[in-house]
Amino acid sequence: MSKKQFQTEVNRLLHLIIHSLYSHKEIFLRELISNSSDALDKLKFLTFTDENYKGINFDPRIDILFDNKEKTLTVSDSGIGMNEQELDENLGTIARSGTRNFINNMTGDAKKDSNLIGQFGVGFYSGFMVADKIEVISRKAGDDTAYKWISDGQEEYSIENTERESHGTTVKLFLNSEGEEFANRWSIQNIIRKYSNHVPFPIYLHFEDTRFEGEGDDRKEIKENKIDQVNSAAAIWRRQKSELKEEDYFEFYRQISYDMEDPLLYMHTQAEGTLDYSTLFYIPSKAPFDLFRADYKGGVKLYVKRVFITDDEKELMPTYLRFVRGIIDSEDLPLNVSREILQKNKVMAKIRSSSVKKILSELESCKNTNREKYNIFWKEFGIPIKEGLYQDFENRDKLVDLVMYKSTKVDDYTTLSDYVERMGPDQNSIFYITGGKEGVLKNSPLLEMYRKKDIEVLLLADDIDEIVITTVPKYKDFELRSVNRSDAANDLKSDDDKEREKRIEPLVNKIKEKLGDNVKNVIASTRLSDSPSCIVADENDPTVQMQNLLKAMGQSSFGEFKPVLEINPDHELIKKLENSNDETFIEDISFILLDQAMLVEGMELKDPHGFVIRMNKILNRAF
Ligand code: ADP
Repeated sequence: MSKKQFQTEVNRLLHLIIHSLYSHKEIFLRELISNSSDALDKLKFLTFTDENYKGINFDPRIDILFDNKEKTLTVSDSGIGMNEQELDENLGTIARSGTRNFINNMTGDAKKDSNLIGQFGVGFYSGFMVADKIEVISRKAGDDTAYKWISDGQEEYSIENTERESHGTTVKLFLNSEGEEFANRWSIQNIIRKYSNHVPFPIYLHFEDTRFEGEGDDRKEIKENKIDQVNSAAAIWRRQKSELKEEDYFEFYRQISYDMEDPLLYMHTQAEGTLDYSTLFYIPSKAPFDLFRADYKGGVKLYVKRVFITDDEKELMPTYLRFVRGIIDSEDLPLNVSREILQKNKVMAKIRSSSVKKILSELESCKNTNREKYNIFWKEFGIPIKEGLYQDFENRDKLVDLVMYKSTKVDDYTTLSDYVERMGPDQNSIFYITGGKEGVLKNSPLLEMYRKKDIEVLLLADDIDEIVITTVPKYKDFELRSVNRSDAANDLKSDDDKEREKRIEPLVNKIKEKLGDNVKNVIASTRLSDSPSCIVADENDPTVQMQNLLKAMGQSSFGEFKPVLEINPDHELIKKLENSNDETFIEDISFILLDQAMLVEGMELKDPHGFVIRMNKILNRAF
């Protein structure tokens, strides 16, 4: 037996692990299983590629044993194994230069260092968080001799010759008081299912089962040794797409989402080249209950080399895609990648960016090939996709193409490109209306003239539309214009309109004079047909609805925007007013025209009392 000193950095690393990862001590099992899985991967590769290993008896598996009385936990694999030199090098030094440099450059600022440690693979040494002695018995595939490595994780370790039935590695932890709880069937099972369920080799848990037989005095306790496979062992995303059926994907979806319904879409990507990763994403059929909660739970799990890393990292997807479920599995990230590192990591950023593009292009093709399905998607997730328009500048063009609205010309939703297809040859802009639910918008007086001229108007009925649409000034070559603004109607002016405008000018001026400071302007309307008046926002001001929204959000500092009053030259009431010389009557009617237009837009009147007095005066005149 030879006794050896740990490399200085190992001692420091051990110290760090024990003191800084303390709150996550259960991860030691994930680390050991991950090492076993790697060792199995390595041997598997050799049996495929190396003549010397082709004849080897390879039954890839990981076995977990525990002894509740002795307080031991053993992880055993039939992988590649280690010879004496490898045991010495792998478990006595720190091979990876990145980790070594980090340890060497430790500042002594314990807190800062312990936050950083998470980004390096802590690996095997994490066992010392829960054990005061670790014994490793290993036999390299192809060799006859086995070796035993023992250490208490203090300064030294020893290596001696021993026996092992076949190739592979057995790691036995002698649990300390911190680790005792892990010598237990249920806690082992839970940790494996949580972190290592998709390790692609079977993990068997050995346990003693107790059952009772007989009745009364004959009742006997029977103990039986049993072995259960605890993981699903199927990293479905790593399997060839051609091998997988829709049902396989659906089954996995159920497992990760706990959703009873089948997903609407799934997309499976296996990227190789500069970056090696697989992704498997699902779009659920129903929006999750917390879709609009700030504390929503992200739906994408991160794996590194098939080992579960986290399901609590919102950075894996942009916020507006928070309804996406699935996994990302990277070959190029370190196992213990911390949250801080994930957020800055270039590999992660690339995977994320291609994942977003992939999801958006799948949605695009669903929209083009299966509108019925896309409509379901849109009803559930249209609002978050619209959020994307102001969150994700890079993909804005793609997102604009995904957006759909209700409109005055179609029963269901329409895309902007469908709208453009339907446009008449003289129409140069895309028109939309905001400020209320669909039913209210459809009946707005602002639409009267558009209807008459057979111009389609999009009905932007979601609260978020008002804010989002301002970030989309154009679609292709066409400007998006709000019919709620005074300039939108300019395009519609005909020669007749201009004539009417001229005719009504004296009245317009009079009303302007009567209303004074209460309006920004009074103009002859070209868009009204049944209503006598309407209000719109000046082209440079936020729309009335936007003003209401800003007010509701407590932003009153923008000052007050005065409305533009449009009056309808063809309306009977206006015509009568033109012929009147009664100044007080004209003044009363002017205010009523303004107030009723404001009421229709759902605005508060500045002087409701004055409105009622004028109304009653007019009513009185009627008798
Ligand atoms: P990491 O796995 O991150 O490289 P570890 O400290 O966990 O770091 O392990 C160091 C090395 O020891 C591994 O790279 C591997 O070569 C070897 N090793 C650990 N566990 C096993 C095992 N079960 N079978 C074979 N080799 C192993």
